[in-house]
Amino acid sequence: MPTKFKNEPFTDFSKPANRKGMEKALLKVRAELGKDHPLVIGGEEIMTADKLVSINPSSPSTVVGTFSKADPALANRAIETAAAAFETWKNVPAKKRADILFKAAALMRKRKFEFSALLTYEVGKSWAEADADTAEAIDFMEFYGREMLRYAAPQPLTKTAGEQNELRYIPLGVGVVVPPWNFALAILVGMTTAAVVTGNTVVLKPSSDSPAIGWKFFQLLREVGLPAGVVNFVVGSGATVGDVMVAHPKTRFISFTGSKEVGIHINELAAKVQPGQIWLKRVVAEMGGKDSILIDSETDLDAAAQATVASAFGFQGQKCSAASRAIVVASVYDRFVEKVVARTKALTVGMPEDPATYMGPVVNRGSMEKILQYIETGVKEGGRLVAGGKRAGTDGFFLEPTVIADVAPTATIAQEEIFGPVLAVIKAKDFDDALRIANNTEFGLTGGVWTKNKKRQERAKNEFHVGNFYVNRKITGALVGVHPFGGFNMSGTDSKAGGRDYLLLFLQAKSISQKVK
Ligand code: NAP
Ligand code: MG
Repeated sequence: MPTKFKNEPFTDFSKPANRKGMEKALLKVRAELGKDHPLVIGGEEIMTADKLVSINPSSPSTVVGTFSKADPALANRAIETAAAAFETWKNVPAKKRADILFKAAALMRKRKFEFSALLTYEVGKSWAEADADTAEAIDFMEFYGREMLRYAAPQPLTKTAGEQNELRYIPLGVGVVVPPWNFALAILVGMTTAAVVTGNTVVLKPSSDSPAIGWKFFQLLREVGLPAGVVNFVVGSGATVGDVMVAHPKTRFISFTGSKEVGIHINELAAKVQPGQIWLKRVVAEMGGKDSILIDSETDLDAAAQATVASAFGFQGQKCSAASRAIVVASVYDRFVEKVVARTKALTVGMPEDPATYMGPVVNRGSMEKILQYIETGVKEGGRLVAGGKRAGTDGFFLEPTVIADVAPTATIAQEEIFGPVLAVIKAKDFDDALRIANNTEFGLTGGVWTKNKKRQERAKNEFHVGNFYVNRKITGALVGVHPFGGFNMSGTDSKAGGRDYLLLFLQAKSISQKVK
């Protein structure tokens, strides 16, 4: 039996050995950038003429890697191959499957800095953010490996005379795994390994913004002995190969994390029964957020401002859990805005490989332009720009951390997910009003309240309708096993990744009853 699950500790980079380790990894990984990579179906490496080039958002002329794109025919072949591999993989004992995850976790732990360094180059994560992403990936494998052993053990049933009863959890079949780029390693690893440890086979289609991280993890899986065809690595645009795989009649489930728009589209497409399809597809869709921190009058305003800034600007605000709205009770509004602005202006923006950098670039040019447009809209609709608002530098996709005050609760930037370093501050009349505003979006992912008042804490716990709620702390940084993660309403199907219910989404239960004398 494995030891009890423990979260992977974050690296203390003030220690010279850790600092040196990361510096060395950054050099090593940089020297390896720019290579050409195949897609892999059933163990066969395939190069295609159509290429996807992954670039470094801090320095867009730097190629992180070039990837062969699949076409619809290859996408179909990947599903067929996964379906064939399922026939053997489903019979591999749970313990053996779990052991592969434990081995992969151990190897990733050994190469932690290398994975983090690649995150720095491919998606612009600072040292601390990259380290947290890698730690979470390790956590998912350690956690889901143990969870599989729990589901494989005898399940408690009510006893009845004359029968021997048992409940077995068995896998579903072929899954299409579609992760986002923002936790380019952790979410990709969690989604892939949860599906595989439960006995399913998958086609993994990494985000077009972070295929290199996906590739590095896929290689690790091969190294620890995952049989060919269990995970098939297919790069390509969501709109072309994604649709083909979601629609394929042999696809049994889709595990998606990304934007609301794409989640809705996948859900619709998956609902249509195709000729030859003999099941209803299961869709696990974790989507966007518009997450708020509510600031009450009875609170430590310095600590609240600190937590708000950390929640809003960590990884440039590109977290589904990021605070993009601060809803502040009128009596402390001006003082709070002042404190948030001072802290925001003190943040460093720069190359993420520099350990002094707090904020790196946003992920791509399109994203940068969209965020700048949201800032413009925010001001046009009556917001008051109190910090940032512009590009920082001219080469990479850097933006200043931006705070817009006096935003109306129904303004565009108070309602739509921006996914960048922009915080909207909204004034509420009182606590009741603030709570009402907090629930006025179509999303329901994370949220938090800052108050010392016990009654208000309880009210917020009951009434603030989000999947992950935080009291007197930041609203990002959910830990595997500690804070099972998933949202309500348009934030998704509330899968609670990193929790005890998650693996059930990739399993079905067979109830077996045998007559005994
Ligand atoms: P995205 O644009 O929706 O893309 C997510 C993934 O879907 C990518 O791999 C993308 O591939 C793929 N895709 C696009 N169209 C598809 C289609 N028609 N069929 C199949 N796959 C398709 O999201 P993103 O920009 O990567 O990530 C940011 C979003 O993710 C934000 O909205 C954020 O809130 C959300 N998110 C949610 C959670 C959560 O737990 N709720 C966690 C992290 C992020 P291409 O890149 O090739 O288009
Ligand atoms: Mg995208």
